[in-house]
Amino acid sequence: MLFKTYRSKSGIDLRKKVIIIGAGISGLSTAALLANEDISVEVFEKSSKVGGRTTSMKFRNHILDNGFHIMPFYKTSAVYQILKKVGIVSRLKLALVDDIVFFQDRKFFKYPRGIIDILKLAIIPFKSRIKLLQILFPMAFLSMEKAEEHDNRKLTEITERLDHSTKSFFDAVCMLAFADIPERVSLGEFMRTMIRANPFKGGTSEFAYPDEGGYDKISEILAQYVQENGNEIKLNSTIKKISVKDNKVIGVIDGNDEFIETDSVVVSYPAYIAIKELFEEDVFDEEFKNRVEKLNKTTSVIETHFCTSKKIDSRQVVFPIGNYTSKGIFFISNITSKVSPPDEHLLMAGTPVPSEYTENPEKIKEISQQMKKEISEIYPDFEKSLLWDRPMAWKLVEAVVKEPGLVWKQKMPHEIKKIKGLYFVGDSTISYGIGTDSAAHSSMLCHPKIMQQLK
Ligand SMILES: Cc1cc2nc3c(=O)[nH]c(=O)nc-3n(C[C@H](O)[C@H](O)[C@H](O)COP(=O)(O)OP(=O)(O)OC[C@H]3O[C@@H](n4cnc5c(N)ncnc54)[C@H](O)[C@@H]3O)c2cc1C
Repeated sequence: MLFKTYRSKSGIDLRKKVIIIGAGISGLSTAALLANEDISVEVFEKSSKVGGRTTSMKFRNHILDNGFHIMPFYKTSAVYQILKKVGIVSRLKLALVDDIVFFQDRKFFKYPRGIIDILKLAIIPFKSRIKLLQILFPMAFLSMEKAEEHDNRKLTEITERLDHSTKSFFDAVCMLAFADIPERVSLGEFMRTMIRANPFKGGTSEFAYPDEGGYDKISEILAQYVQENGNEIKLNSTIKKISVKDNKVIGVIDGNDEFIETDSVVVSYPAYIAIKELFEEDVFDEEFKNRVEKLNKTTSVIETHFCTSKKIDSRQVVFPIGNYTSKGIFFISNITSKVSPPDEHLLMAGTPVPSEYTENPEKIKEISQQMKKEISEIYPDFEKSLLWDRPMAWKLVEAVVKEPGLVWKQKMPHEIKKIKGLYFVGDSTISYGIGTDSAAHSSMLCHPKIMQQLK
């Protein structure tokens, strides 16, 4: 009788509780996938809100994202697939981000989303457009397995012989898709992006953003689902250590030095940080620690929110091409007006920077001033309608490395065979896609492994 009460149909002991460290997209995605199968989870989050790196804030009655966030691949994204799988996709209203343009020589050019758009892309000489198609078309029809064969090659092997304007096209795509420059992008990863954007292969090149404003809406919805299923999300609760004995997880130690027993723990923040923080020195060997440390290569950015009293453009995203500091200008109020009070408009400009800039207030100010100057050049009404600006810098944007040799299956594994009951998810772990898509993808891939152990 007892057996019947405590075991699920698939034979899992339902009294067991999986502890998840971190309530960002990957931690909450994993929690939701497990909760969907009646597995008890307990999520520990050290900060006072869910969302991790996507956590938004209120500022002068605007919703400010933690740096601009956009969801790539819209309804084919891993985030969307997870919400669909657990039956809560209708809770997330998405605004489509499809009015995207390049800006060059005082003209705007539509961002190409298919063959016809590329043929019409006047930013590039016609002959180069044909050349571009000859490069992109075969990529978009590759299989995912074939793309994997190019994971150790650089994207620039393909782009280095191209003319300047065609190269600029790759600069813009890399900025949009990877928040990075082609020099640092693996050819295999770029190919996967082309495949996933190919509508003939069930993909999409559409982007989305939560219609109610704030990218952390996604985490809030996941957290709500996890709690509705009887599980706890403990905010302001840090996990200090994971206890391992005889190659098995036996529990965790929380911020109050209390031992909590469990035989399954999921770590959801960048593995190269977690390995140093959460374990005794001798749990992992040096070779493994060095391998994980290689993933410690993050993208850093400076982004400035600007608020204007006038709508200076009706487009959603503008990519200035050429010698601009501002690599992207995001008109957030044009994506959804709900981020701002009536008659005020929010936009944001961003640029990747060397990580040391993020700790230098003078540099942050200088770059932000340069962005202001550039936006004023593109939009003469900008400066006089500017109400306030708020520069910010992030050292850790993504833990996704796009460099050759460090992508997809070369990232941190979800499971360590030597230690039973220990799992890693998040954007530093095996997955493809950028940022939040990769974080959610890692949860989809890790979830069956946790289920297997619970059985
Ligand atoms: C400025 C900026 C712009 C970005 N733009 C985009 C974009 O446009 N599109 C996109 O898809 N992605 C973007 N990203 C990247 C995206 O935010 C991340 O890839 C994604 O949120 C990572 O999710 P995660 O769950 O793996 O990790 P995190 O969000 O980092 O979650 C880990 C959580 O663990 C918690 N934690 C850590 N240690 C402990 C502990 N010991 N105990 C308890 N809790 C702990 C942290 O507080 C955190 O909440 C951007 C990021 C930044 C910073």
